Amino acid sequence: MNRRKRPRSSSGVLYKKRKNNLMANNWNIPKWLEEEAREIDKCCVYCGVEFTPLNISRKSAASWEHIINDAKIITRENIALCCCGCNASKGQKQLSIWLQSKYCKEHGISAETVALIVKQAIENGL
Ligand SMILES: [Zn+2]
Repeated sequence: MNRRKRPRSSSGVLYKKRKNNLMANNWNIPKWLEEEAREIDKCCVYCGVEFTPLNISRKSAASWEHIINDAKIITRENIALCCCGCNASKGQKQLSIWLQSKYCKEHGISAETVALIVKQAIENGL
């Protein structure tokens, strides 16, 4: 009996499963909002990089962003997806201050280049 080992453990199925779990959020973001954000934000709202799965690039993987840095504000206006690179750079900084940072200059990120949701936040005085 020449039983083979389980074939293709790295099949697409496994990969898909992992991808779905990738951004399970710890932010109490309701499902509808999470789905809406994922539907609309296919790219980083700041630098515009297209999201990649974590196992391809950590930097350009999607992460949850509270535009106003307050985890209690869970609205479509405040929840967006940005890449880990931008998220790490922005940290606790206020949006308008972060936009002046070296990181933003190096990546060509400005109030004019960011996604609409971020522009709206800037207009509202962030
Ligand atoms: Zn980014």
